[in-house]
Amino acid sequence: MPIYEYEHIGAGCPKGKSFEISQPMSSEKLAVCPECGEPVKRIISLFSVSTPKTNSDLKSHGFTKLVRRDNGVYENVTATGKESKIWDARKPETMPDLKSKIRD
Ligand SMILES: [Zn+2]
Repeated sequence: MPIYEYEHIGAGCPKGKSFEISQPMSSEKLAVCPECGEPVKRIISLFSVSTPKTNSDLKSHGFTKLVRRDNGVYENVTATGKESKIWDARKPETMPDLKSKIRD
């Protein structure tokens, strides 16, 4: 489910001035805070406007970035843990461990 960010039009409440909530794509946007019932407005989620730029951003967002180094040889610049840094297409054991990064 996508995460939306809302901001209180007034002073806010124990949830904070702005808060994030996950809602199904199909649901109506909230008009009031579920916590205090004060009016809120939806603000553009930071997540949807910021594109990860650096390799470590990509990594922390769970992306895998491969840089071609040679014919059939890629460097996995976002390798984590036991992943191989170099992916040689001819060596399946060096393939990035994508399964470990796919989460729900
Ligand atoms: Zn509130």
